[in-house]
Amino acid sequence: PVEISAIEKLELKDIFIAVKTTRKYHKTRLNLLFQTWISQAKGETFIFTDWEDQELRLRAGDHVINTNCSAVHTRQALCCKMSVEYDKFLESGRKWFCHVDDDNYVNLKNLLRLLSAFSHSQDVYVGRPSLDHPIEAADDVRNDGSTTTKFWFATGGAGFCISRGLALKMSPWARYVQLGKFVRIPQTLIEPRGFHSQIPVLDSLGSFISTAERIRLPDDCTIGYIIEGLLEVKLLHSPLFHSHLENLQQLRGETVLRQVTLSYGGPENKHNVVSLAEVFSVQQDPTRFKSLHCLLYPNTAWCPTPMVK
Ligand code: UDP
Ligand code: MN
Repeated sequence: PVEISAIEKLELKDIFIAVKTTRKYHKTRLNLLFQTWISQAKGETFIFTDWEDQELRLRAGDHVINTNCSAVHTRQALCCKMSVEYDKFLESGRKWFCHVDDDNYVNLKNLLRLLSAFSHSQDVYVGRPSLDHPIEAADDVRNDGSTTTKFWFATGGAGFCISRGLALKMSPWARYVQLGKFVRIPQTLIEPRGFHSQIPVLDSLGSFISTAERIRLPDDCTIGYIIEGLLEVKLLHSPLFHSHLENLQQLRGETVLRQVTLSYGGPENKHNVVSLAEVFSVQQDPTRFKSLHCLLYPNTAWCPTPMVK
């Protein structure tokens, strides 16, 4: 008799997709995402912002998380959001945490295919490295006497994913801890065979925020520092994630459809978009996200009727 494989098939609902946004982008950037890829992943997508917005609340309900983090582009504010994303992911019980920015297109099918190659109980950290060399951070003196740590990190602006198994191990450095409060971290999260029923953590800022302050680097670097530097788990370098730090014009035609994430250049760099000849003109669709979406989901109501061949 044929043995039935015990391998569980990964489904979209096993993934937690965190989108980082801010007040000023609710109407512009976020609407484009709702029109496109988020429409296909309403149950999986969680929006992390810094402003209570009635319209957004009506649209996405409890999938909008008002982090109460400040609406400025500082290390603390961005790290604050990242740690709230992390906490909400742990709470959700899902198998995979993926972070993206509000100028990313997520190709859901390709994301699912990529993550299906791994087990969520393994240690997996996958994304596009920001630099072509590891970054070096000054931190405390380590066991071997060195005072710096070298590590790779995935660019936040291209999106990255972390397995639940690894996310649990990050807990001592990654959680959001309320100012001056004792927070009880369930022992199962911090030490599988621990003796304490609860471990009080007193922290003046937040665990993740203080980790970031220790090395004085941004949120995505801090994730890399915790995973590669402290937990000694390697980033899986993937060329399928893209930010607007790259020349996106090099991605053309069919190749565009095979990526996991994409992005577009801001107003100062509006020509930095993927090359798609089809569907809408650059005037109608400057980011190319609508064109891409229609190529992937031609039956979408606002897409031109597909030609019958
Ligand atoms: N962002 C934020 N707070 C701010 C400014 C930006 O949370 O004060 C978010 C923004 O919504 C986006 C990400 O941070 O998801 C990166 O912002 P942006 O694309 O403007 O800058 P980049 O670093 O990519 O040039
Ligand atoms: Mn950006």
